[in-house]
Amino acid sequence: SLVQRDESADEQTRREQIFASAQERYYASPMQIERGWRHHLVDTTGRAYVDMVNNVTGLGHGHPGVADAVNRQIRILNTNSRFLYRELAEYSERLLALLPEGSDLDTVLLVNSGSEAVDLALRLAQAATGRKTVVALREAYHGWTMASDAVTTSAYDNPYALENRPDWIHVADVPNRFRGTYRGEAGDTSVGARYAADLGGDLDALAASGRHIAGFICESVLGNAGGVLLPDGYLAEVYDRVRVAGGLCIADEVQVGFGRMGSSFWGFEQSGVAPDLITIAKPMGNGFPIGGVITSKRIADALTTQGQFFSSAGGNPLSCRVGLAVLDAMRSEGLQQNAHFVGRRLADGFRALAEQHDIIGPVHGEGLYLGVELVRDRETMEPATEEAAAICERLRELGVIVLTTSERSNVLKVKPPLCLTEESADFVVAQLDRVLSTGW
Ligand code: PMP
Repeated sequence: SLVQRDESADEQTRREQIFASAQERYYASPMQIERGWRHHLVDTTGRAYVDMVNNVTGLGHGHPGVADAVNRQIRILNTNSRFLYRELAEYSERLLALLPEGSDLDTVLLVNSGSEAVDLALRLAQAATGRKTVVALREAYHGWTMASDAVTTSAYDNPYALENRPDWIHVADVPNRFRGTYRGEAGDTSVGARYAADLGGDLDALAASGRHIAGFICESVLGNAGGVLLPDGYLAEVYDRVRVAGGLCIADEVQVGFGRMGSSFWGFEQSGVAPDLITIAKPMGNGFPIGGVITSKRIADALTTQGQFFSSAGGNPLSCRVGLAVLDAMRSEGLQQNAHFVGRRLADGFRALAEQHDIIGPVHGEGLYLGVELVRDRETMEPATEEAAAICERLRELGVIVLTTSERSNVLKVKPPLCLTEESADFVVAQLDRVLSTGW
């Protein structure tokens, strides 16, 4: 038979024996995934799903250009001792060329993951300023290493740190205009100004108590909160205030950068700001582990005060070749443009569903980073958390992989490979309509 035996029960038992319980998995009883192709995943029974959660495989699964690059380069050279490698310079130059015109960032440090990138950016900010304190926003996820976890402020992802956060971190209010301290419409600049003024108050209080800041870190679009766009004017004013206070501005673009926004390559361009440090990872390698920090030479050179910087695999010729293949494919396949057009169609589809289904609250995001917030009441914004989980389970039965995010786990996070087609976008909207119309 072409349909294989369902091995997922065996695999789950195996996993439970070997893995730590903190190593979470999706779904009550997950399927065993065996293959991926473009924006589809296939399980061991031969069932195919539209993959709406894989923002790591930005190009899509099984990309032949990446496969060929790995194959070719690993046969030629893959070592990362301290010699010169053409691939490293070529890839770093290509990354810098992606920055908006007029950017003065000119230096790239390559590592292997987003957590490492955030860790390094924090260290760079501290080294360059000679200060320690970092300001992070509530409800953020920035990684699992000691430092990136310390600035991970989401109660869902890091409950431990609510009570035990290291004292070099200050947590500022999250500027969520839909359900936060201040609420308002998209164009209402007073909302962003009020959040920014509060953050300015925090900076003054920190300075008054002798805690001078090294930097400020946030996602340029609040990915972990569900793709919530920052209020108009917020980031520009916050960056100004941080700089006046002597700190550096770090944009965590691990999730929202790299073409996913569609209308801009970087998330920070949505706010018209210029960060001092940018962290990148996930889609850089389309699943191959690559991460990096883009900054200025002045900041990067401050690392010498701490000795050498070296990562055994970070920036090796193989990962650079993969990174180049990803950038080539993004360009030749027009993936940022596709994110723009298909993302808009998807968002329009979700917004149209909201007219028929009261459980849909705001639809967040831009391009192919969207969040469909499910609420029991649009006024109180009471989160429909249990409903969201049940809807995801039902969508899975209908062939759509979509999962929840935010601290309240009530936002359907929509961040598929950037090659998502209009046809599949329509299919996803139709399946959500079906679930909401027929029950879950
Ligand atoms: N920053 C952000 C915004 C992220 O979403 C993540 C991962 N979800 C990270 C950093 C950490 O990246 P990694 O898992 O590659 O270590």
